[in-house]
Amino acid sequence: MKRELYMLKRVSHYIKTFSLWDLLRGLNVTNRYFWKKKFTIQYPDEKTPVSPRFRGLHALRRYPNGEERCIACKLCEAVCPALAITIDSEPREDGTRRTTRYDIDLFKCIYCGLCEEACPVDSIVLTNRSDYHFETRGDNIMTKQALLALGDQYEAEIAKDRAEDEVYR
Ligand code: SF4
Ligand code: SF4
Repeated sequence: MKRELYMLKRVSHYIKTFSLWDLLRGLNVTNRYFWKKKFTIQYPDEKTPVSPRFRGLHALRRYPNGEERCIACKLCEAVCPALAITIDSEPREDGTRRTTRYDIDLFKCIYCGLCEEACPVDSIVLTNRSDYHFETRGDNIMTKQALLALGDQYEAEIAKDRAEDEVYR
């Protein structure tokens, strides 16, 4: 019985070898997927949907009247596990406290989003920008001016994303 089974396997092996069985099976898979909907995205002209919670490049936001939201409480600096945020601050003439320096080292940042969660005034946020690069040494340090400029540029997207996610906060 064992010998017959062995012979049967050998014959089956030869038939499969000479009929190119494995190749035909592979071509069958190719044929099936050839007619299906394609999933290739022509980046950067096309982009996949991004979650409103996506944690990309940081930005500092302003209120609609142009006043910067940040009150220099330094909670974000304290909570940052990567020690990526450096803040200096001083009181203004009107008695409020504002940052004089707000740097984020993107080489240290691990994009955990804790700074965003800790901020009591929705000032520091992580935008959905993931396609950025550095060209010169030091570009990895995002300064306050750069962060505010990004906030100004993407405020509409940031506000929309936060409104969508509001019910979960
Ligand atoms: S995302 Fe995380 S690691 Fe990056 S600056 Fe914020 S708290 Fe620090
Ligand atoms: S960004 Fe928010 S948490 Fe950080 S210092 Fe400013 S107000 Fe405080």
